[in-house]
Amino acid sequence: MQVLPLPFERLVRVLGRLPGLGPRSAQRMALHVLTKPEIMGDVLRTMAEAAEQLRICQECGNLGVHEVCHICADSTRENAVLCVVEGVDDIWAIERSGVFRGKYFVLGGVISALSGITPDMVGVPRLLARVQDLGVQEVILALGASVDGQTTSHYIADRLEKMGVVATTLAKGMPVGAEVDYLDEGTLKLALEGRRKL
Ligand SMILES: [Zn+2]
Repeated sequence: MQVLPLPFERLVRVLGRLPGLGPRSAQRMALHVLTKPEIMGDVLRTMAEAAEQLRICQECGNLGVHEVCHICADSTRENAVLCVVEGVDDIWAIERSGVFRGKYFVLGGVISALSGITPDMVGVPRLLARVQDLGVQEVILALGASVDGQTTSHYIADRLEKMGVVATTLAKGMPVGAEVDYLDEGTLKLALEGRRKL
């Protein structure tokens, strides 16, 4: 028996694909939005605006409103030091610490033998090309402390060494198993300042 109206069920299914939303919370959210037309209007409008106006930076993968993000376009930032992160939210966390004046590269994931994710799938070739283009001398590998994050760091460090580029990684203050975007500003500052050669 069809308990829920079909369009509602479809909405719940789509919302349920969002991270952090299980079927129950997706259903609650859908019901809430539908019974509050003013919220529904806001959600629809801002989502359409965001989809239309936001761009992924062609150089680093950051989120912005231009083809090239404000960090890549900033001529006062150093090209010699490049910080590699897993996701855009990691850039925001590091920017909040205010200690880093180089540029970034968003890898978009980590290498995982178990999930069959290869270096090519997470943008390692694009990273190496960017290192060459910018004339980078040091690459800070600010990836998570998970096994896959560490494996990825070592793989990239290996490739960089062959290119004569120094690879460093976040050190002091980074709790075991932590993700970069969960660190508070003080911890992140220490971790960046205490980076060491991989
Ligand atoms: Zn950029």
